[in-house]
Amino acid sequence: MQGQLPSMRISGIVGRSRVNGPGERVLLAVQGCSLRCPGCINKDLWNPEGGNLVEVVELMDLLHLLRGPKKGTRGLTISGAEPFDQPNALRTLLRTVEDWFTDTIVFTGYTVEQLLEDNSRAACMPHIDALITGPYQQENRSLTGLRGSTNQKIVINHTSHLDEKTLEQFQQEIEIHDGGIVTGFPG
Ligand code: SF4
Repeated sequence: MQGQLPSMRISGIVGRSRVNGPGERVLLAVQGCSLRCPGCINKDLWNPEGGNLVEVVELMDLLHLLRGPKKGTRGLTISGAEPFDQPNALRTLLRTVEDWFTDTIVFTGYTVEQLLEDNSRAACMPHIDALITGPYQQENRSLTGLRGSTNQKIVINHTSHLDEKTLEQFQQEIEIHDGGIVTGFPG
């Protein structure tokens, strides 16, 4: 069964981050984005052939190790490039790992309406606590919270403990990790 699991193209994983959502979090950054928003600071992640292709079962093992000393002590953030350009891998991963973390936040350039139009993308949504949705608009850049621009929407799953106010008021910072991974928001 595990041999049938899909693979996901990723650009990197950060085991401990404090700039991609509340509390200590694991960050999974995917590779590949078809949306190509003008002003995007992640252009080096656009190429869908870049990064590393990793079997989802391997990612599960890694996230299990990184989830923290006790179940539910860290959150998980999945960002881009564009996670929903790999919806089958995303859904497969989320279904297994969502209970290992305090909450799961996913960043996407698609709007909620666009996600709901596509069955494979919509099937990911029940496994996500909070979505930051919509394309980045450089003319509407946001300097606070988890939104990169003010047009983007924060969508909270009704079963989640997260609240919109916390995510809107989040302090923007960046972190630089081993291997040259820069993450967070340049406020
Ligand atoms: S969706 Fe995100 S990664 Fe893709 S172009 Fe827009 S800002 Fe960049």
